[in-house]
Amino acid sequence: MQRVLCFVLGLVVSAGAAGGWLREQADIMGTRIVVELYHPDTATAQRGVDAVLAEMRRIDTTMSPFIDSSELSRVNREAGRHPVTVSGELFGLLQRAQRVSELTTGAFDVTFASVGFLYDYRQRVRPDDRQRKTATALVDYRQMVLDPARRSVYFRRPGMRIDLGGIAKGHAVDRCMRLLQDLGIDNALVRAGGDSRVAGERWGRPWTIGIRDPRDRDGVVAVIPLVDVAVSTSGDYERFFEQDGVRYHHIIDPRSGDSARGLRSVTIIGPDATTTDALSTSVFVLGLVKGLALVERLPGIDAILVDADGKLHYSSDIEPARKPDDGVKATSPAVAP
Ligand code: ADP
Ligand code: MG
Repeated sequence: MQRVLCFVLGLVVSAGAAGGWLREQADIMGTRIVVELYHPDTATAQRGVDAVLAEMRRIDTTMSPFIDSSELSRVNREAGRHPVTVSGELFGLLQRAQRVSELTTGAFDVTFASVGFLYDYRQRVRPDDRQRKTATALVDYRQMVLDPARRSVYFRRPGMRIDLGGIAKGHAVDRCMRLLQDLGIDNALVRAGGDSRVAGERWGRPWTIGIRDPRDRDGVVAVIPLVDVAVSTSGDYERFFEQDGVRYHHIIDPRSGDSARGLRSVTIIGPDATTTDALSTSVFVLGLVKGLALVERLPGIDAILVDADGKLHYSSDIEPARKPDDGVKATSPAVAP
């Protein structure tokens, strides 16, 4: 009943004040940022768009490993020598990353960067076997010591590095959504690359997100209607190069220091983008069987996987939506015709 009412109100609002819808894109954090939102007052809507883009830039400046003056770069330079005190925001995100590492027994590990930095996908550069093995020995989240009392980070092994590429975009999307809520903007989508979060509706209908075909730039394998959730996709097609028939891409198995190769893409649906971002990278590394088993254990988390043969796999909670007489729940994915 409540849902139906919202739906009707949404239609009335969007039909009556189309001018309040804004959409903007920008390239920040090495990826495409999209914000689309509604507020009846156009000036407030514009403030929302500006706030999102400014927040994305701020987080990039803090957490980019490519900016020498970023807080993250300072950690990478100094934390192998002594504990480095960091901002509450960075410390909190590192704690969250640690928890995901524990949950995934190290499939997700921000210290993957100790070997990850030897790859440059644009320049088609990768470590040789000896370099890879030496650097992979430094990958271990348990050797990154977080001290809440001092809010400090310490690497037990010199040479360790971290990179938040598997969780920071989700964090940024969540922060932006909070800013929009504070402005009273209830209908919005914020996306950073493969990480999106939606609130309310779009022109009186649920937001939808297409899951890309990992082997066809313009193809879509499924379209999901979404209500107040986050969605993240990790794929082997974002940053990669091929050499001797082998695909080297940006999701690294911390045990081998090489790209994880069991899947083509993983989409995770969950309550917030920090969680879905970290889990999409995690499940990609864990692979089909272990990855789906993890998703099944986590309440409120759903997944759609594309395996190495291009076949789709769904977690059990969303499978019923595929049966025609089952009635598609608003929050459940439906497969595109
Ligand atoms: P994107 O949206 O950038 O495609 P993903 O969510 O798929 O990102 O995560 C890929 C990024 O995660 C990589 O670019 C890298 O920065 C980071 N990463 C790669 N492997 C791991 C890992 N095993 N654990 C944590 N982070 C990782
Ligand atoms: Mg991710």
